[in-house]
Amino acid sequence: MHPFAFTKASDTREAVNAGRRGGRYIAGGTTLVDLMRETVERPETLVDISGLPLGEVTVTERGGLRIGALVSMSEAAAHPKVRTLYPVVSEALELSASAQLRNMATIGGNIMQRTRCTYFRDVTADCNKREPGSGCAALHGHNRTHAILGTSDDCVATHPSDVAVAFAALDARVHLLGPDGQRQVPFTDFLLRPGNTPQREQALRKGELITTVEIPAHPRPLKSGYLKVRDRQSYEFALTSAAVALHVRGGVIREAKVAAGGVGTVPWKLSAVERHLTGERPSDALWSAAAERAADGARALQHNQFKVELLQRTVERQMRIVGGTK
Ligand code: SF4
Repeated sequence: MHPFAFTKASDTREAVNAGRRGGRYIAGGTTLVDLMRETVERPETLVDISGLPLGEVTVTERGGLRIGALVSMSEAAAHPKVRTLYPVVSEALELSASAQLRNMATIGGNIMQRTRCTYFRDVTADCNKREPGSGCAALHGHNRTHAILGTSDDCVATHPSDVAVAFAALDARVHLLGPDGQRQVPFTDFLLRPGNTPQREQALRKGELITTVEIPAHPRPLKSGYLKVRDRQSYEFALTSAAVALHVRGGVIREAKVAAGGVGTVPWKLSAVERHLTGERPSDALWSAAAERAADGARALQHNQFKVELLQRTVERQMRIVGGTK
């Protein structure tokens, strides 16, 4: 591990000032410390933000939810409001990592976590994300777990978070505090596709700190859930996943929110599927027809062609679980 300076921020202003000077924020440390041990990450200064007052879940005036960046994954998953209003968020969290990691890792850290691409974590391999301009070993290497959506010639790594898929489906917004004050970014704009700058992963300005993730109010009742398909049943990242939320009134789907994980360089919002569902009556035929749109635009690599059909099946199955069958 490379030497680094360590400072603990006593308030958000102090944290942002330290971040503006180049410090890296750390809270649970479940990703960053691993990467530092492997010398993939070599920050000069760590800024401990674990003492900041960003650890609450609150209901907004309109009936949405604000989840503080420092709420642990396990606290968020177990929170009564999260469980009742947005089960898709609870389920995505509970299907992530291990119980020990969920107790340490925070919501802010979870959406900031870096890819599990093995070449990224192997400092002897070519990796544009770790070392811009060095190449991408995964393009012609072992790419079974890599992305089929949102890829570029420079990077094909998936985003590893489960709860980020639920946030994308629910049109969440990320609240940020930086040297120039507060701002909000739609979740689907916060995480960046690789393009030709895969090393740039979030729409963060220098020194900006995530303060909360806000899920807007959706019409109720809203039924939702998360399905994760993986090589083993625990402590494993998604090959494919689907977050689905449906508001059905009078036998008609009035609002559909759908996103996929394990397949995109960012959590993948399935707008074509949402449009296909909206205004229709739930039925097996509808789920099947809508799911065919789930892999629109997919570009498979040598070893992950199977993800195209697996994605369609995952989305179809989760729509059927949430929306029922007729
Ligand atoms: Fe690096 Fe991305 Fe290629 Fe993986 S897929 S080796 S993270 S550039």
